[in-house]
Amino acid sequence: MPHRHPAERYGRVYVLRLGHRPERDKRITTHVGLVARAFGANGFVLADICDEHVMASIRGVLERWGGRMHLECGVPGKRYVRDWKRSGGEVIHLTMYGLHVDDVIGVIRESPRPKLIVVGAEKVPWFYYEEADYNVAIGNQPHSEVAALAVFLDRLYMGEELRMEFPGARLRIVPSPRGKRVVSLERGEEVGEVDGE
Ligand code: SAM
Repeated sequence: MPHRHPAERYGRVYVLRLGHRPERDKRITTHVGLVARAFGANGFVLADICDEHVMASIRGVLERWGGRMHLECGVPGKRYVRDWKRSGGEVIHLTMYGLHVDDVIGVIRESPRPKLIVVGAEKVPWFYYEEADYNVAIGNQPHSEVAALAVFLDRLYMGEELRMEFPGARLRIVPSPRGKRVVSLERGEEVGEVDGE
């Protein structure tokens, strides 16, 4: 029985990445996008700027490993947040200054409204703290947007997302205690390790 995408049950979940600096954030913003995909978000939006390198990396993973995710870049972050709320969605801003995730995740999970999860890079403008329906801390210590997003999504979906299957995948890993086993679904046979992954 295929494992359904958790967002089918919990509603639409998009990630909005703020403050991307192309000269230094390529890897980390790509990782935000990859965590969004792998941990069950169904949209990734890079605010205020388009970095083709980042978008192409995420697209490449979607092509090889499957999944349907809305991708968008260059949209003004503030307008995106306002429009999201205007169309009935709620905004969850991840920040170390927020309320502890365990104190709010139950209410967030129960709400059927589409969820926009906002993560920053450097200092996030005050606008987002004010507009957010929830400012949520993954513990009140500084760490990373990649870690914060992964833990938040995992708490939201209660771990279910790690079992989901990705439609349209060309490759699938056969879990193994040692070594690297990968099946090409197009060729119907095992292939070796892929792209240094
Ligand atoms: N001062 C920032 C803050 O408000 O969390 C830390 C900057 S951190 C380099 C970049 C991003 O990581 C933040 O904008 C936030 O989205 C996320 N982040 C870092 N630590 C976090 C935490 N403890 N809880 C939730 N999000 C966190």
